Amino acid sequence: MYAGGGNLIVLLGPPGAGKGTQAVRLSATLGIPAISTGEMLRRECESGSVLGKVVQDVLNSGQLVSDDLMNRVIASRLRECDCENGCILDGYPRTVSQARFLDRLLKEANLPRPIVFDFQVETDEVVERLNMRGRTDDKPRTIRERLKVYRQNASKLVRYYSGKQYYRIRAGGTPEEVSGTLLRILSCQPALRSRTAVPSYSVQTA
Ligand code: AMP
Repeated sequence: MYAGGGNLIVLLGPPGAGKGTQAVRLSATLGIPAISTGEMLRRECESGSVLGKVVQDVLNSGQLVSDDLMNRVIASRLRECDCENGCILDGYPRTVSQARFLDRLLKEANLPRPIVFDFQVETDEVVERLNMRGRTDDKPRTIRERLKVYRQNASKLVRYYSGKQYYRIRAGGTPEEVSGTLLRILSCQPALRSRTAVPSYSVQTA
């Protein structure tokens, strides 16, 4: 179970913003797991289970899987021992209801709030990246739907997290540039600095 050492990091942003890439890079640097809810769902689909078949239909439609299911998936994943020193959540929470659930989960365990990075990228660039990726839910119609669903929830999530260790990140640069920005901010988080080998940077606030 996530035990409060290190930090729980949340990556917000539209599909195609580079959250997955950054989650993997941060995971390697910080030595904590990257957890992609989308990836977990895709694995369930590949398993051919009854649940997987239901989930596949939702993924193909570009809509979100139910909060209830996602909350249960995350609560159980955070209990695994590799999360003890923190983890990076890529794709969760996606709704205010999920964000509230996560906060409640942490509060009940007497743990600090997550650090939230919100990836900002131009829509044209996002669409271009998604078109290149070629996943089954990256077809033009599904992409449009996923972006619409993202926008429906994004502003409410931003309002929910504003003022609570919430950082807007310009994510249009190279993976190295974006990682540099994330690590500069993280290096100022006392819990994380004390447990990992993150070099100490000074943060420039725009
Ligand atoms: P992603 O790989 O993060 O782009 O997620 C792919 C798809 O999985 C999304 O379009 C949703 O259908 C579903 N999904 C992933 N994470 C969540 C979540 N936190 N809540 C609801 N649905 C999710």
